[in-house]
Amino acid sequence: MQWDKVLATRSTRMKASEIRELLKLLDQPDIISFAGGIPDPALFPAQAFAEAFAAAMTEQASAALQYSVSEGYKPLRDWIAGEMGKIGVPCDADNILITSGSQQALDYLGKLMLSPNDTAMVGWPTYLGALGAFNAYEPRYLRLDPFSNADPAQVQAEAAAAGGRVKFAYLSADFCNPTGETVPRAGREALLDQAEALDIAVIEDAAYQVLRFDGEPVPPILALEIARKGSIEDCRTIYCGSFSKSLAPGLRVGWVCAAKPVIGRLVLMKQAADLHSSTLSQIATHRVASAMFESHTAKLRATYGARRDRMLAALARELPEGVRYTRPEGGMFIWLTLPEGMDGAALLARAIAEQRVAFVPGGAFYADGSNRNTLRLSFSCASEAQIDEGIARIGRLLRG
Ligand code: PMP
Repeated sequence: MQWDKVLATRSTRMKASEIRELLKLLDQPDIISFAGGIPDPALFPAQAFAEAFAAAMTEQASAALQYSVSEGYKPLRDWIAGEMGKIGVPCDADNILITSGSQQALDYLGKLMLSPNDTAMVGWPTYLGALGAFNAYEPRYLRLDPFSNADPAQVQAEAAAAGGRVKFAYLSADFCNPTGETVPRAGREALLDQAEALDIAVIEDAAYQVLRFDGEPVPPILALEIARKGSIEDCRTIYCGSFSKSLAPGLRVGWVCAAKPVIGRLVLMKQAADLHSSTLSQIATHRVASAMFESHTAKLRATYGARRDRMLAALARELPEGVRYTRPEGGMFIWLTLPEGMDGAALLARAIAEQRVAFVPGGAFYADGSNRNTLRLSFSCASEAQIDEGIARIGRLLRG
């Protein structure tokens, strides 16, 4: 069978992720890995979930094991709407759609908005999984810069010449994956101005928002837009949330919060794709979140915050002159920029072979594969001793 003959053009844009291929190599015990970027399993609220799943089975088995509505489990949507209210986004359950992780939301939003050759504005660098989700819809990418003074008419004219329209700006504004950086309030306001001028949607990926260790919280972009417009129903921002980093990614429970017409269209998409997210997972998530979300996430912030501090201290000690790095106020990542001309991917091969330490090369996070002299370190799963030793190894590698 010559599969090429039966494949859709979109499938040619789907590539094996460099990160996933790499993760397969990292289970050797002597390697210290800062590559993952996943939550520390030791911090999962496993006992609370054991009780929640058991209770769902004894008290709510018919609902938990049955088909349910595409919008998601109503008590969970009510709980999320309450939490959104606390961060400046007054809304109700009808503004919330439960998705199977926020990754599914990114896929649906690409499907909803991107025709082939449309333009998606993304951070430079940006979350690799967002590029993976959007790629299937065959867009062109444009660098998102909140402070850009490019003429909006010109930007749309160039998108039209490429065969489509600019449809949305996608960004993770808090402790973004991969750099750990946060877009300040002025940047969020400028982005909203730009989105208005271009008449495009804004996709706000809030995967790490709850993991702020210190500094001043910045209101979500959606909250800033509601402050301008008065109601979520008049907003162009689509907020994607997730329980993956705050409770556990294996639940596959995330959500979209947006104006009702957007939610309505996404509900149709969900019906067509998978009917609904796991009812059992949603019920258990609701039980655990409503009992202990605040205390549990406080524990995560303390633990990850201490690991961030440890890694920053080790970087200050070990890195040679000429290497720059971010100082994130939350999340899971620190981003290194090496001297011009160095290549993160080539360095990784040497790091594993010579120093038994791993990270993610940064080039993969750029839609055009540029800026290869960068790399992403995650501090989420490493012990303080591993951080000290692993960063010392990276220091030796860079000095060598
Ligand atoms: N957005 C960002 C920025 C992420 O880093 C991730 C996962 N690492 C996701 C979305 C997807 O997470 P999930 O589907 O588990 O919610």
